[in-house]
Amino acid sequence: MPTIKILGAGLAGCEAALWLAGHGHTVDLYEQKPHVYSPAHKLEGFAELVCSNSLKADRLESASGLLKAEMRRLGSSLLPIAARCSVAAGGALAVDRHEFSALVTAAVKVQPNIRLHLEEVTSIQPDDGLTLVATGPLTQGRLAEAIQQLTGGAQLSFYDAAAPIVTAESLDMTRVFAASRWGKGDADYLNCPFDKAGYEAFYQALVEAERAPLHDFDGDLTVYEGCMPVEVMARRGPDTMRFGPLRPVGLVDPATGHRPWANVQLRRENREGTLYNLVGFQTNLKFGEQKRVFSMIPGLEHAEFARYGVMHRNTFLNSPRLLLPTLNLRRYPNVYFAGQITGFEGYMESAASGLLAARALHARLLGDEPEQWPAGCMLGAMLRYITTENKDFQPMGANMGLLPPLTERVRDKRERYGRVARLALEALETAVRYE
Ligand SMILES: Cc1cc2nc3c(=O)[nH]c(=O)nc-3n(C[C@H](O)[C@H](O)[C@H](O)COP(=O)(O)OP(=O)(O)OC[C@H]3O[C@@H](n4cnc5c(N)ncnc54)[C@H](O)[C@@H]3O)c2cc1C
Repeated sequence: MPTIKILGAGLAGCEAALWLAGHGHTVDLYEQKPHVYSPAHKLEGFAELVCSNSLKADRLESASGLLKAEMRRLGSSLLPIAARCSVAAGGALAVDRHEFSALVTAAVKVQPNIRLHLEEVTSIQPDDGLTLVATGPLTQGRLAEAIQQLTGGAQLSFYDAAAPIVTAESLDMTRVFAASRWGKGDADYLNCPFDKAGYEAFYQALVEAERAPLHDFDGDLTVYEGCMPVEVMARRGPDTMRFGPLRPVGLVDPATGHRPWANVQLRRENREGTLYNLVGFQTNLKFGEQKRVFSMIPGLEHAEFARYGVMHRNTFLNSPRLLLPTLNLRRYPNVYFAGQITGFEGYMESAASGLLAARALHARLLGDEPEQWPAGCMLGAMLRYITTENKDFQPMGANMGLLPPLTERVRDKRERYGRVARLALEALETAVRYE
């Protein structure tokens, strides 16, 4: 069997390497540490958690818990290790980051099918065997240039300037109305109409809200024009937003028969219409502040945030254009990607995509058809999200809004999520071919 080259011994790279090696494949695993460090990596070991030590919720009735249940079913090596070095964190799975990294490093080193190369990789040869790129959201230098060349220039982003996304079922549809400006085309947008007093209260809360600090290596974001956060725009004056993303022109609120004083537009985030993003609301506010302030928008009083707006350094592919559902490049099918660089956002999501890529490589090397992950399970839904056309593609973490809603209405959120999760695990089961 041919050897598989894996670039990067982070969460995705280690998860993929351990799974492939455990299934009889020989892996050449490349890692630049300890010779070269990204601005966020500090530890010498592999699978380093660069920020929080929480791997998020573990109960099945949550998006993160469901993701973990699906990963366990697919043979995750990192989750059993996380359990061995977990620290008390309520319902979440949090770990001692030093021990976690040390245990993953040891597991990689004792695996006889993994050959380690501690060196920085600077190029990719698409015709020279199979390569899995898992170098993470801070991929830089010559390797980033090589990826840009392979993917055709502007298909690699270096910044995440994302607006929040809310679930459709949490919107108050008695306050929100569907319409496009001037009635042109289909009523593609949902509109949240402000009256004058509501807008002024919102404006005041927005300019006073607390922002998240930028890291040193995020410094150049301040000069990146496309990143203008909505709260910075607001500080330019009370009416700036009303002439920008919150302009009400061309709209009539059916509840009043008049043009709103200001208007927030929501745009579909996925084809299924279960998620909507707040148009023009890229933001650097703290998550709690986003919930507090953006819930003042008419119709969003009880909004569930599937993802909050973020702004930071984040290297990611335009996956919908570039990747197949097997996580390899359409144009160069020998080159696979996994981890945050694909748009699977988060520690466990990154590791999960490593499992998916490993399983796709395994099927290919056996000459089998790849496993087909259904859209009804979290991994299938995420895969679909990152490989379905989306002109404003931004990375996405596991969230219940990605899954098809239940056909019956269940008011209690925990009960609802429990049912969705059980259905998701049943759906996953239909696709699993390798133990
Ligand atoms: C600053 C920051 C904070 C984050 N905080 C969180 C958080 O709190 N919670 C969360 O869920 N997610 C967080 N994320 C997002 C994401 O979950 C993590 O970045 C995660 O580690 C991504 O996993 P990965 O396997 O894709 O990449 P990484 O874990 O970064 O692994 C990539 C590996 O590749 C190596 N590498 C890179 N380039 C080369 C090269 N040219 N040659 C050889 N090796 C190379 C790196 O040294 C590294 O070991 C954060 C991201 C960043 C940038």
